[in-house]
Amino acid sequence: MSTMEPQSTSIAQPSPSFAVRESVWTPVQSEVMRRLEVDERLPETHAHARLYPYVKRVIDIAFSVGFLIISSPLFIIVALQVLMSKRTAIFQSTPKIGRDCRTFNEFAFTTKRRFVRRLPILLNILRGDLSFIGPRAVSPSEMWACLDREPLARAKSTIRPGLICDWWIRRRASLDYVREVILDSGYAEACSLRKDLSIVLRALPGLITLLLWGDDPPGYASSIRILSVRIDNITMRSAIDRVVEMLDGPGASQVCFINPQNINESVRVPDYKEVLEDADLVLADGFGTNLAGKILCRPIRQNLCGTDLFPRLCAALSGTGRSIYLLGGAPGVADLAAEWVKRHYPGVIVKGWGHGYFSPEEESDVVRKIAQSGADLLVVAMGVPKQELWIHGNLDELNVNVAMGFGGLFDYLAGRVPRAPKWVREVGMEWVYRLIQEPRRLWRRYLIGNGVFLARVFHERLRPHAFQQEQDFIVGRER
Ligand code: UDP
Repeated sequence: MSTMEPQSTSIAQPSPSFAVRESVWTPVQSEVMRRLEVDERLPETHAHARLYPYVKRVIDIAFSVGFLIISSPLFIIVALQVLMSKRTAIFQSTPKIGRDCRTFNEFAFTTKRRFVRRLPILLNILRGDLSFIGPRAVSPSEMWACLDREPLARAKSTIRPGLICDWWIRRRASLDYVREVILDSGYAEACSLRKDLSIVLRALPGLITLLLWGDDPPGYASSIRILSVRIDNITMRSAIDRVVEMLDGPGASQVCFINPQNINESVRVPDYKEVLEDADLVLADGFGTNLAGKILCRPIRQNLCGTDLFPRLCAALSGTGRSIYLLGGAPGVADLAAEWVKRHYPGVIVKGWGHGYFSPEEESDVVRKIAQSGADLLVVAMGVPKQELWIHGNLDELNVNVAMGFGGLFDYLAGRVPRAPKWVREVGMEWVYRLIQEPRRLWRRYLIGNGVFLARVFHERLRPHAFQQEQDFIVGRER
């Protein structure tokens, strides 16, 4: 008996011959991507909008005066140190754009000491150039360029810039694949006490990692290793471009995601480790991988979770004539995932689907159906490492251009498992959310697995030889 459901009928496509090249996005695709980004803006009311800026200013003055008093001994010490080192000035100032596009000078000490260098920014807050909370202050050239090409930047320019904001939180969590201007303009339109309090709370993990491990360096290596697993250290946009490029390329490619649990698994299952070595693209997923990157001084460019990447990939494939096949999940789940794709991305052709609980005897039938479907992209959601090993073992017979393992993606799309709210993901606690939902299945994976992973990371960090070997592997640097 076949375990596969009948293949779905394909949906009429506008231009089947169109092929997407790297970084070439049609207006339709750009529009879908923009909608995805705009959806990220938090809906809020304008109820307290008129009064709140005054309240916020009072809070800024009170806190900046408080911090200046507390840090005054440090101010004096650093000022004396700078004077004694014969530097010409104690402060350096950088022109930045403030509220209503007025230029101001942002102060810093002329010292290289990370923690104290930016202390004089408290003076900017006291003067009203900046606020504690608000969009990043940008240089005049950056602001004019942004205003030129982005109407949304106008909203951002009407409010006082600040030190921390939604984008800052996303950036620290490596979830910054929503453009900064989108989040900033959303903030400008709906600034409130509640929102600012939420920003302060959500920024705490980012502030802690900043204090412990500092800011990421200006450039990122394009390929790194975390516990000997190779990671292609790229942005969401580049990852989607690379997948689309592979869809046009010769042969079949395999794409994998890697999170702390998967890295643990790669130690336990050598075959899986080999598959990761062989894979055409290995993408970093999860707060733990991001944290490991910071601890090992190999920062992760962006945290590319499969559940976040899949809708963006669908947007990129919309209207290109490219087709997908969905394999995995309990019986009935892939059907619902296919429904989800058709409802949200009618421009993507779904060639077929099937569940992931087939027997070894049924495997050849499953492979034959996928090969005959003529799908370009195979999306497999059967959990790690099963899906990676299965793809690798069957890639030559599947007749697809790209096969990707997405873990529990279909359960989310089918609505069987709720996704953690955005703020939970931003503070790196999605695993806690999942653990609460399925404690019996996941306690070992998360409670023991995360501890083991961190122990391995610190072990590598503290072994100079191993640490240096992995540092030497770093390939390329891109901004
Ligand atoms: N699964 C499957 N076939 C199997 C074992 C699991 O299709 O033989 C599915 C399962 O129904 C679930 C997914 O694979 O939808 C694994 O989910 P999990 O959350 O464990 O994935 P991961 O954490 O690896 O992303």
